[in-house]
Amino acid sequence: MEKRGLEFWDSHGHLHSEYPDEWVDTLAERMPTCNVRKASLTGIGLLSDHEDEDVLRGYEKYPDLFYPYLCNFDPDDPKSIDYVKHELDNGPWRGVGELFLDTTDTVCANIPLRDGSVKKHPYPVPKDKSDSRVFGEVFDLCAEKGLLVFIHCERLKFLCEVLPRHRETQFLAAHCDYRCDADNARRMIEEHPNVTCDVGPVLKHMRHKNPEDTASVALHEAWRQMMVDFPERICLGTDFVSWAALEKSAYNKVYDAFPELVGHLPIEHARLIAGGNYERLMEGSNA
Ligand SMILES: [Zn+2]
Ligand SMILES: [Zn+2]
Repeated sequence: MEKRGLEFWDSHGHLHSEYPDEWVDTLAERMPTCNVRKASLTGIGLLSDHEDEDVLRGYEKYPDLFYPYLCNFDPDDPKSIDYVKHELDNGPWRGVGELFLDTTDTVCANIPLRDGSVKKHPYPVPKDKSDSRVFGEVFDLCAEKGLLVFIHCERLKFLCEVLPRHRETQFLAAHCDYRCDADNARRMIEEHPNVTCDVGPVLKHMRHKNPEDTASVALHEAWRQMMVDFPERICLGTDFVSWAALEKSAYNKVYDAFPELVGHLPIEHARLIAGGNYERLMEGSNA
């Protein structure tokens, strides 16, 4: 597949709190080899109590590569609001997230460790979901400061309750391609101008992994059509959380597949989805 000179901006970059410095060094080494200009750098929410510090350290080492996101606070503790406000007032944060608004039957994330074992980690979902006071105040703070809210929400009805209450806040909906129903995602994009969808690693595998899986193929087709219909509302993100995904060949495989994922689009729209949309969300304009 011809790559058409695409430049990528990764809208879903994580930091792993096991060996965080090595993780960031590895990303910094991989990114230029795949023409990835910049990536978000976010913790995985309460996985360790030093995720935000780790993210900042990674950002300070590579300020031209990463956008630091704040995520390490308890959504059910009102004191979190003071923490977030203090950090956003004083730190170089460019967004808040990945925040967990809703998960379905999965209450634990399975975080792979480097030795191959898996750490089960409860998702920090607020008990009041879209009525969470902490989240509400954080969303308003982000609007005041022009920062992006990066949010994981598997049943989009909860996010769709939040969006009209915080019209001034820009939201990026994490991995919309595999956690969420495509029809609901389409409706959400149509009805709420303050949301952009992050898609990526699962979508690109769908077709090749199992062509017999007609539900996955249909989902893949639905998103390809959404890219045609909403070229300014979709970003590509990797969501890598394992050391295996950072292996050179695995990392390259994802970026080898991304040009194909946007290969059906006119070049200017492919550029927006590969990077321009995320660049605009972060920098305010397409340079
Ligand atoms: Zn997520
Ligand atoms: Zn993620």
